[in-house]
Amino acid sequence: MKCETCGSKLSGMQPNCPFCGTPDPQFVRRYGAYPPPPSQRNIPPQNIYRPPYQPIMPTYSKENEPAEAAIIIFSIICPLVGFIYGLISLSHGEIRAGKTYLAVSAITFAAFILFIVLIAFMAAALT
Ligand SMILES: [Zn+2]
Repeated sequence: MKCETCGSKLSGMQPNCPFCGTPDPQFVRRYGAYPPPPSQRNIPPQNIYRPPYQPIMPTYSKENEPAEAAIIIFSIICPLVGFIYGLISLSHGEIRAGKTYLAVSAITFAAFILFIVLIAFMAAALT
């Protein structure tokens, strides 16, 4: 079936010619659809334009807030800083970050104590 206006091939599955909007008589005969009035022809199909781009924002989660590297370094230099930051983070609901600060300060503090004990033993052995 060819379009009587523009001569393009019609599938018979669409009510109108996809090129010029002329009603497809085969479709009208088959489905009994009334051809749309001329004012509705050549309306560009809906949803041809993609919806406006929306960046996917990661949902902010306090519990999952990662620990800050700067505070971890501070915790290594001074375990008390990490301990205080850990408590502050936990009290603010930043469980992951708070636990990291506390763990870093605990490990550093343990290493510090071990170092002091080692020095004390060395000093005792030397005297
Ligand atoms: Zn046509």
